[in-house]
Amino acid sequence: MTDLTKLTIAGARDAMRKGDVTSAEITAACLSSIADAGALGAFVHNTPEIATDQAAAADVRIKLGDAPDMCGIPLGIKDLFCTKDVPSQAASGILEGFKPQYESTVTSQLFDAGAVMLGKLNMDEFAMGSSNETSVYGNAVNPWRRGNEDTALTPGGSSGGSAAAVAADLCLAATGTDTGGSIRQPAAFVGITGLKPTYGRVSRWGIVAFASSLDQAGPMTKDVRDAAIMLRTMCGHDPKDSTSADIAVPDFEAALTGDIKGKTIGIPKEYRMDGMPAEIEKLWADGTAMLKDAGAIIKDITLPHTKYALPAYYVIAPAEASSNLARYDGVRFGHRAKLAQGDGITEMYEKTRAEGFGPEVQRRVMVGTYVLSAGFYDAYYNRARRVRALIKRDFDEVFADGVDAILTPATPSAAFGLGENMDPIQMYLNDVFTVTVNLAGLPGISVPAGLDAQGLPLGLQLIGRPWEEAELLNVAYALEGAAGFVAKPAKWW
Ligand code: GLN
Repeated sequence: MTDLTKLTIAGARDAMRKGDVTSAEITAACLSSIADAGALGAFVHNTPEIATDQAAAADVRIKLGDAPDMCGIPLGIKDLFCTKDVPSQAASGILEGFKPQYESTVTSQLFDAGAVMLGKLNMDEFAMGSSNETSVYGNAVNPWRRGNEDTALTPGGSSGGSAAAVAADLCLAATGTDTGGSIRQPAAFVGITGLKPTYGRVSRWGIVAFASSLDQAGPMTKDVRDAAIMLRTMCGHDPKDSTSADIAVPDFEAALTGDIKGKTIGIPKEYRMDGMPAEIEKLWADGTAMLKDAGAIIKDITLPHTKYALPAYYVIAPAEASSNLARYDGVRFGHRAKLAQGDGITEMYEKTRAEGFGPEVQRRVMVGTYVLSAGFYDAYYNRARRVRALIKRDFDEVFADGVDAILTPATPSAAFGLGENMDPIQMYLNDVFTVTVNLAGLPGISVPAGLDAQGLPLGLQLIGRPWEEAELLNVAYALEGAAGFVAKPAKWW
């Protein structure tokens, strides 16, 4: 029975349609794997009753013969998504006990298509972090281990629970969100595929907001085909999100021919960082060679403003976060501090926010408030916005010059140990290859491409033209085929 959890979305879809297996069976297998995997800390809230009901309903639809692709597929849902009547806390103490009265657009589209919710997944608090260590629930743990050590490694963040759950076969796939790398970095750390779509492709409605001009939800899956299938169900125009694009949704799976002959792949010289581990450098060179062997034209390109991306991101993201998080005031949602005699409304706000937000979230709110304050707005926030425009222009120029996709490493290292990266600046450096994509609003995908000397997965990132996820997925599909990454973590949990 446990083998059913190893199915891909495509494999499960085809097997269910043939009548070889039911959603009820796959769902039951996932629920039992989840019950067995408490040590991974991936799920923070299980919904077995909902899952069982949804699976039964999906089996009826599949029998009737015209079920959508995602029908009957058991998923984990990142805790950042509002799920109706089910705890949705963004892994924060301030949303303690919060059960939304509505469903996010993404989850409602998935459930309308028949997908099954196994539960809510761990993450960094309000999606701020790269290691899942800022979660109020405690961190999720990477199912992979370094050599024979039993050091607990991070699954990355912020979608760390999603990454751990998919890599450990607790669910067939998961939702993630990516503001500066939170889908692609954890995917790389656990050897799965993670896609951040073009900004505006997927509705943000009902997803707890972090930095609204950067946030985008996407699929975290076992392979590229599954990312194509799941993305199609997640996207589409939503009038409830003013930045949701009214643009046709192609059949991304149909685009997966694996033929990339004559496509131009750009290799940006600015991503060759000082002190980059030799293994990452080699992985990148190997990936380049694989795409070349598959018939692509390799072109050296320059994205000159890359070095300003991290500082610009760490001004813009906290600025937007400080504004978005102002709504958590102890009045409307979740936690409210116990007040002392004589406390007024100001004390209520202060105590609630001091108790409810963890240290990283407080740091971001303070940085964000500072860069938006009257005296510093031009020096920091406006300057960061101008830098952002230049970063976007770098990409526009490269794409106008005929580049179809850009290849870079996904992360500057393999997964690190929990507690190893406690300095915030050190932690922010993890996002060096991913934040540019969010600042420019582009689609990016991380594909597992190899193992390091210690046996840990490493990912490569492909960046595509806006709205051309189909093309991007096809290049990723070719890379996946050539890299032939099939390794799985040895079960210790
Ligand atoms: N690690 C980045 C941050 O902490 C990105 C987080 C994300 O993409 N949600 O802001």
